[in-house]
Amino acid sequence: MKRENIPQKNETVDLLIEDISKAGEGIGHFRGYTLFVKDAVPGDRIRAVVTKTGKNFGYAHLQKIISPSKDRVDPPCPAARTCGGCQLMAMSYPAQLAFKQSLVENALRRIGGFSVLSGTDASGSGTEIRVEAVVPAKEPLRYRNKAQYPVGTRDGKIISGFYAQRSHRIVEADDCMLVPEYFRDILEKMLALMEMYGIEPYDEETGKGLVRHLLIREGKATGSVHVCIVVNGETLPHAEEIAKMLSGPAGKTDTYGDGPASGKGRAAVPCVEGVSISVNTKPGNVILGNRLVRISGKPYTEDVLCGVPFLISPHSFYQVNHDQTEILYGLVREFAGLTGTEHVWDLYCGIGTIGLSLAPSAGRVTGIEVIPEAVEDARVNAAWQGIRNAEFYAGPAEEVLPDLLAGDPAAAGSFSESDVVIVDPPRKGCAPSLLETILSLKPSKIVYVSCDPATLARDLRILTDGGYRIRRVRPVDCFPMTVHVECVVLMSKVK
Ligand code: SAH
Repeated sequence: MKRENIPQKNETVDLLIEDISKAGEGIGHFRGYTLFVKDAVPGDRIRAVVTKTGKNFGYAHLQKIISPSKDRVDPPCPAARTCGGCQLMAMSYPAQLAFKQSLVENALRRIGGFSVLSGTDASGSGTEIRVEAVVPAKEPLRYRNKAQYPVGTRDGKIISGFYAQRSHRIVEADDCMLVPEYFRDILEKMLALMEMYGIEPYDEETGKGLVRHLLIREGKATGSVHVCIVVNGETLPHAEEIAKMLSGPAGKTDTYGDGPASGKGRAAVPCVEGVSISVNTKPGNVILGNRLVRISGKPYTEDVLCGVPFLISPHSFYQVNHDQTEILYGLVREFAGLTGTEHVWDLYCGIGTIGLSLAPSAGRVTGIEVIPEAVEDARVNAAWQGIRNAEFYAGPAEEVLPDLLAGDPAAAGSFSESDVVIVDPPRKGCAPSLLETILSLKPSKIVYVSCDPATLARDLRILTDGGYRIRRVRPVDCFPMTVHVECVVLMSKVK
């Protein structure tokens, strides 16, 4: 890029948005120089102010839409531009789905080096893969079952809301369009109780103050709600009174449908059934602490997923979109193709949702998960459901799996090639050593559940080079309005 073609900082430029980045920013070119513009949609003609320039690309701030893209819609949330959460809210839902489809296809092409057919492309060599159409969400708004609200102070007033993009500045927004409306009532009650009892919010800069975050999680199928207060200290003054005030029916501003299956809402009137405290005295941006103290009621949320009841403690991972998760797990079930005898290895199992929903169709289930509380939840859930053919182990999958197989075969069972390995890692993907272990075990099928197309593509390349072939790839939109997408992949051993 010639120096003179790079626009100046604060220069106003007119751009046609031609593409979209992985992070959801619109991409345009000014005299051949690439600019990323948050909130701009491909097809928009815009005026923008350059905010930052580098050698090869820069950033600009959307100032005015000169002519809107055919895919542009009015964002349903007033905080859409200030809040960092919904990167795609100005895009129509079909355009969001097309974006996610190409996100997965491009990652498999560019990072995985696979030959990927798009649209109506015909197969040539037979080695190409096709990404099946992303499963759309029935409810593109208010689908989340969990919110974590940062609590802070502005001008002497206790405030809460969401973090602005790439920052820890709280954007005051009393109603997030991705979570149930009644979450706002719980949050407002909590802020009022803090004012009443003179409880200070935590201040990240000074490390002083007490309340850091408020976590609310509901069971969509049950209406069971749990509230967890994250505090910078061992206790919260007036905890019992606060818990009492927060507990009980929670739904003054919400409407209820005929159950989750109707796509119209949750099954029962939501009720706060328990309150806990998460002790987090460490500076830094990790939200949850490492010790949980029950204040009143049930120390967990109850939900039903794929017909199976689950208890979920506040520290455990649990998929945020109940209805789309049932579709996701349905695909895992279909891809696993169990006949009733297989040993299923559920790696990165969380509270055991995948393994336990498959246990009645499997010979045996072994789950491995790094968070001890989640493993405890998985064991409690297995016992609660009367499932006797599932065991769960705590620790990093890359260490626990080889240890189990090296130990007493009576305990963990020996590995057979008819075993099915399911992996569902966090965004950073599978540990390379875990992939090596899996390759050395030669299972006939591997089902990979991914929440990050880039690391998925990287790992699928390793497994492909190790003798596996991709049979099916199906993305599921579990996170409408955001750039995130889940994906289920079936691989089988090449004979
Ligand atoms: N399968 C579960 C959880 C998926 S999220 C579900 O669908 O709900 C990924 C999980 O991997 C999280 O629970 C996280 O705590 C866990 N995890 C992260 N690193 C891990 C590791 N190295 N070994 C095992 N589990 C890990």
